[in-house]
Amino acid sequence: MASEATDVSEEGDLIGEGRPIEGVEAKEKERKDKESIFNERMVLKGSIDPKSATGIFDLPRGVMHEGKRLRSVTVDELDGVDEDLMTGSGPYTMRVNSLLRNRVQRLGDVDDKAVIGTLIQKMVPIDRGSIILMVRRASYGDDLPLGEVECRCGREYENPIAKLNTIEAVVPLEPEKTEFETACPTGLVIQWRVLDGAREALFSKVRDSLKGKDSLTWSILIRVTKIGDKVVRIDDDIFTAAGKIRQTRELLNTYQLAKRMKGRDRNHLRKEFRKFEGHIDLRASLVCPDQNCKAVTIVPIDIGTPDFFFPGEVPID
Ligand SMILES: [Zn+2]
Repeated sequence: MASEATDVSEEGDLIGEGRPIEGVEAKEKERKDKESIFNERMVLKGSIDPKSATGIFDLPRGVMHEGKRLRSVTVDELDGVDEDLMTGSGPYTMRVNSLLRNRVQRLGDVDDKAVIGTLIQKMVPIDRGSIILMVRRASYGDDLPLGEVECRCGREYENPIAKLNTIEAVVPLEPEKTEFETACPTGLVIQWRVLDGAREALFSKVRDSLKGKDSLTWSILIRVTKIGDKVVRIDDDIFTAAGKIRQTRELLNTYQLAKRMKGRDRNHLRKEFRKFEGHIDLRASLVCPDQNCKAVTIVPIDIGTPDFFFPGEVPID
């Protein structure tokens, strides 16, 4: 997840992947302008108190509870339990769920941990990702070392870092709604719901089981509830006790339906997911220190690895 959290964006949006791009700033501006037709952007700034290592910030989307949308979150720093969690084994999303439950001290006016745990399960990836970012910042500050990055001119950046306090989120539209109906370009009508924590965990189980195969189809299936007039039902019971996917006729039929959807419909749908779920712009821009070069290198920030939580250290096995 959190690389999974940004799954919708996995098709070609991470321009660069560590390689420099021509005219990247212009392209970047054009892309932001395009997005802002629908969605606003916000910097996930919040405020961090270094003394108590707590952070307070607003979720980009928020979560509904007793008729109110809760957005304000208080987190504190990682402890040994979380470290063991993040370097342990088991599905990543489930471990992250535990970490979030441990570290969120307050959500809106709720401080009951059991309720907070339930609400975290209802959050969309953008909110869960922004909490992860904030916990990292409260624990270790705003600088994230990026490892070895080379400019296209061959020069290596010296100690490249990402500033985590400059990361922006693209704010989702209609945050009070969780269910949507979308008419696709071919006329096919799809009903779907935003990806919450519980379904993200299910998605991560599917990915583990299929070793990432057909990931794009599953990123659609995990959200849709109806394709045309066919009801789609993907729940925990698609798994056998041994963690394998049960090849029932119903699942195979549903699978074929998603596979047969036209590329432009699937593409349109993914754009709709993005519009209403929002996403975090997890990229750092590095400017080459060579005055004759000044090329900008875009480096993706992976919040889905233990490295993110253990800056500059290799955890002892
Ligand atoms: Zn350069």
